[in-house]
Amino acid sequence: MELKRIIIKPTILCTADCVMCVNRQDLYKKFAIAGELTLVEWCDIIDNADRLGCKVVIISGGEPLLYKELPELVSYIKSKDMLVVINTSGHGYDKNLLKMICNAGVDDLSIPLYSNDEDIHDGIRKTKGAFFSAIETIDFISKECPDTKINSQYFLSKLNYRCLSEVLNLCIKLKINKLDFTYIEGDFNHENLLNATELTEYISEVIPKVTNVIAPYVDNYREIIDKLISLHGTSVNYLSKGIYQPGNTLPCKRPSEALLILCNGDVLPCNMIEYTNQRIAGNIKDSTLTEIWTGTKLNLFRDTNFPICRMCSLPLYTKIKFTYYDI
Ligand code: SF4
Repeated sequence: MELKRIIIKPTILCTADCVMCVNRQDLYKKFAIAGELTLVEWCDIIDNADRLGCKVVIISGGEPLLYKELPELVSYIKSKDMLVVINTSGHGYDKNLLKMICNAGVDDLSIPLYSNDEDIHDGIRKTKGAFFSAIETIDFISKECPDTKINSQYFLSKLNYRCLSEVLNLCIKLKINKLDFTYIEGDFNHENLLNATELTEYISEVIPKVTNVIAPYVDNYREIIDKLISLHGTSVNYLSKGIYQPGNTLPCKRPSEALLILCNGDVLPCNMIEYTNQRIAGNIKDSTLTEIWTGTKLNLFRDTNFPICRMCSLPLYTKIKFTYYDI
């Protein structure tokens, strides 16, 4: 058991109001009372993660660019020789600040493209102008920070499933390094899940277009298409109900290799706990990261198959990595 990466959320302030974030709001309300960790506390966490062997820090949010001490935090993480990834909407902040942070050593910047259509992307973000800001930011950072790799993210939902091949086309046009593909998570009321008819359309009509787009640019495209078509071992019937893992989910490696640390100091075994607000492993104000990592609560979590795991889309994650050849 080795802590490979931590996902930290220094702030949950945001420049958007995305549809998939609704079910995290109960947990986030707590933070308004608890307040955010200080830079000193984050540096202590980074020191402790370093001692546990952690090599990757993913900075997410909220919108991490709204965390005032992000430049100092990134510099501190880089001083430990760890890889830094920032997840950002690419919208609603000073691009020159982002340039300064990237040049402080950010290895990967991940800017989601939920659609190639402005209205769909902005509709998912519930934020006018979010799409064009994201495109502008990708363009700006590509030119100004050539050492920072630019990645993107896409989740499949009824709002955007028909756009997938066009999103991939856009990624290629923008020379995106990789697209992280997954299914919408935390949609417990089934508002944006594809129904069985839409899933069938996705497989029979969208996937062939995806194949045509990625074949020249993705070395393992057959493997990726197989994964997308096979639905990762689940079925149209289950997927339309938001059940991504109908069978036994153990052992899940995730809580044995990664941790999520929120702005109030709560330490979570994985993303789904943000939605359920239960089984939080501990708080950094009460225990060290090592105590939480090796503690009873987390060990119990690792050994138990929870009902919530059936609704976890993490195993359906697919990395679509592009390869660009000089012509
Ligand atoms: S919710 Fe369950 S399956 Fe998903 S990452 Fe957590 S432990 Fe693993």
